[in-house]
Amino acid sequence: MTAIQYLKGIGPKRAKLLADVGIRDIEDAFYYFPRRYQDRTHFTPIAQIEIGAIATLKAEVLSVNARRGFRKGGFNIFEASVGDDTGRIFAVWFNQPYLRNYFKPAKKVILYGKAELYKDRIQLSNPEFEFIEEGEEGVESGKIMPVYPLPRGFSQRGLRKMIASILEKHLTSVAEILPFDIRSRHNLGNIAKSLRNIHFPESEDARLAAYQRLSFEEFFIFQIPLILRKFKRKEKKGIAFKINEGSLSSFIQSLPFVLTRSQSEVLAQIKSDMQVDRPMQRLLQGDVGSGKTIVATIAALVAVDNASQAAFMAPTEILANQHYEKIRRQMLESKGQGKQVSVGLLTSSLDEKEKNKVLKEIKNGAIDIVVGTHALIQEGVVFKKLGLIIMDEQHKFGVSQRALLPQKGIDPDVLIMTATPIPRTLSMTLFGDLDISTIRELPQGRKKIQTLLYDTGRRHEAYEFLRSHVKSGQQAYIVCPLIEDNPALMLASAKRIYKEFSQDIFREFKVGLVHGKLKREEQDKAMVKFRHGKLDILVATTILEVGIDVPNATVMLIEHAERFGLSQLHQMRGRIGRGSFESFCLLIAEPKTEQAQSRVDVLQSCSDGFQIAEEDLKIRGPGEFFGERQHGLTELKIADPLKQFHLLKSSREEAIKLLNDDPKLEKRQNTEIKKQLYKRFPGFERFIMVG
Ligand code: ADP
Ligand code: MG
Repeated sequence: MTAIQYLKGIGPKRAKLLADVGIRDIEDAFYYFPRRYQDRTHFTPIAQIEIGAIATLKAEVLSVNARRGFRKGGFNIFEASVGDDTGRIFAVWFNQPYLRNYFKPAKKVILYGKAELYKDRIQLSNPEFEFIEEGEEGVESGKIMPVYPLPRGFSQRGLRKMIASILEKHLTSVAEILPFDIRSRHNLGNIAKSLRNIHFPESEDARLAAYQRLSFEEFFIFQIPLILRKFKRKEKKGIAFKINEGSLSSFIQSLPFVLTRSQSEVLAQIKSDMQVDRPMQRLLQGDVGSGKTIVATIAALVAVDNASQAAFMAPTEILANQHYEKIRRQMLESKGQGKQVSVGLLTSSLDEKEKNKVLKEIKNGAIDIVVGTHALIQEGVVFKKLGLIIMDEQHKFGVSQRALLPQKGIDPDVLIMTATPIPRTLSMTLFGDLDISTIRELPQGRKKIQTLLYDTGRRHEAYEFLRSHVKSGQQAYIVCPLIEDNPALMLASAKRIYKEFSQDIFREFKVGLVHGKLKREEQDKAMVKFRHGKLDILVATTILEVGIDVPNATVMLIEHAERFGLSQLHQMRGRIGRGSFESFCLLIAEPKTEQAQSRVDVLQSCSDGFQIAEEDLKIRGPGEFFGERQHGLTELKIADPLKQFHLLKSSREEAIKLLNDDPKLEKRQNTEIKKQLYKRFPGFERFIMVG
C-alpha cells in the first residue's frame, strides 16, 4: 500500500501528524472512520432554530463585525449576521479574525452548529461553514457530511478533502476482504461501495448499509485469532482424568452446606472437560458469593485423585492466604478415605527458606494443591505433575499472564474464575476462545443487602447508622476512592478518614487501615486482625474489591460512591451480606452527572451482578468497562458488540465455517483475510499457539 506521505499535498510533516492517529498508508485512510455525521440534507429555517439544538442553515451574509473581547488579554471576536426568508441570526467565531476575508455581504453560506442563548439573543458559536459559489450548489451541501476525529493541525474541511481525494483516486484498487459467498448470504455490499458510503454517504440508508458491512468485516477478522486459538487447543493433548466419584462425594458431604443446582451443573461441565484428553480452557463466571471457589476446589480434587497437582492462583496476597486457609481446612475436615490432601502456599512475601521448602515440595510432589499469587508463574517453579490451573478473578491477571502459565506443564487443564459477570455480548468478543460456565443462583438463605444513599450533607446520619451496628458487635468497612489527600481532588482519602475516625468520630472503636501502598505484611496484618474481630472498623481503598470473606462484617460505607464504576461497587458490596445478619451498604454520594446518578440508581434497585454488568456496559461502553482487561489484541474501531450483537454472532459463525474449511488460510480467496490478520494483529501467530 502506498505510504501516505507520497500523496500529492502531503509532505513528511503532515504525514507525521497523520501517523499519530494511525494513518500511514492509503488503506489506513480508507479505514479512518468518521466519528459522526452532519446531516446537511435538510436546512432549518432560521425562525425555527431552537436553543440548544444543532442546526444546519442556508443563509445570506447580511453584515459582519470584528472586535476585541472586553476581558483583559482579550480575544478577537468575529461576528456575522446572516438571514434567510424567515429571519436572521448571528454567528460568532473567536480568535479567527481572518474570517473577515471570507465573509462578505451578499455571499451565500451554509452554517452548521449549535444554537446558544447569549445575553438575550440566539447565536451560533463557532459554526462550521461553507460558501456556495454563484451558480453552483455547494460541494458540501445537501449531503451527509462526515465528522472525523481530527489529527493535530488538520481542519474538518482539510481532512475531508484529503480523504475524498484519496477515495477518488485509489478506491478502485482496494482489495475485497470478505469472500463473495459470505457477502451474498448476509446481504453485504462490496468494499469499495461500503468505504465510499461510510465516508461520504449517498443517503442515510447507504450509510447504514456501509456501517453493517464494515462492522461485519471487523468482527469477522477480530474473531479469527480467538477461533484459531480454540482450534489449536483441540489439537493438543491433555490429561484424561478419571473421576473418582466416591472421593468427590465424600468431600462434598463433608461441607457444611449442599451445593446449589447451579454449582452442580457447572461442576458437571468441568468434570466432563477434565475427563477428555484435551486441555480444558473454561471460564467459570458467577456473581460474588455464588460459590465458585468451592467448585474450583472440587476440580482440584479431581486432579489430586489422579496423582496430579493443582495450582490455584489468586490476584492478591490477602486472597491467596484466605483461599489457602479455607482449602486446607476443608481438606482436613473432609473424611476422605484416601491419603490426606496436602495444601501449600506460595507468595512473594515468604522468606527465602520457606520459599525454598515450598518450591521443593512442589517439585517432589509432596504438595498436592498449591495456592499462590503471581509468584506461581515466575521462573523457578517446577511442578512434579501439574494437572490443573485455577485462576481466580482472571481480569486482574491480564491476557499475557493468562497465556504464560500453561507452559509450565504439559498442557494442564485451565479453569478461570471471574466474579465480574461478563455480559454475553462481551464474553464472545473477549473470551471467544474459552468455554464458559455460569453459576446463576446464589446459595439459599443469603440475606439481602440493603443499599442506602446519603448525600454528602447527611454523612453524619450514615456514621450514626454505622455506629449502632458496630456497637452491637458487628463490623464495618469504609471504602474511600483515594489513599492520600490530593489537593486537586476534594475527596475523602483513606488516610484522612482513618485519622478522623480513629482519633475522633469512632474513638470508642478499634479502627484499622488497609490500602495498596502498605507493605504486604501490613496489609495482611490488618486483614487478619479484622477477620479475627480485633478491629471493628476497617478503612480501605478498592483493595477490598476482591474476595475478602468476613461474615461478621455487615456494614459497608462507601465514600464518594459516584466515583466508582457500577460493577466495582457491586463487587465491593459483595463483601457484606455473607453471614446471618442483615447487611447494609451505605453510599455517600453527590452524583453530579447523569451517569453517576444512574449508577447509583441501578445499584439501589438491583442486586443481580449480571444485570448490573449489562447496565454498566450500557453506561460506560465496552472499552472502559474492561479497561485493562481488554482483549489485548486490539480495540474495535467501528463495530459495537452491544448494538450489533446479531452481526457479531453471524460473523462468528461464518468465520468458524471458513476456518474449518481452510484453517491455515491458504486458499486463494482467503489471502486478503490473511493479510489483514497480519496487519491488524501483529502478534497473532504467537497468540494462537499459547494456552
Ligand atoms: P465466590 O468465590 O463465588 O465469590 P465463594 O466461593 O467465596 O463465592 O462462596 C461464598 C461463601 O459461600 C463461602 O463462605 C462459601 O463457603 C459459601 N458457599 C459456597 N457454596 C455454598 C452453598 N451451596 N451453600 C451455602 N454456602 C455456600
Ligand atoms: Mg471468590
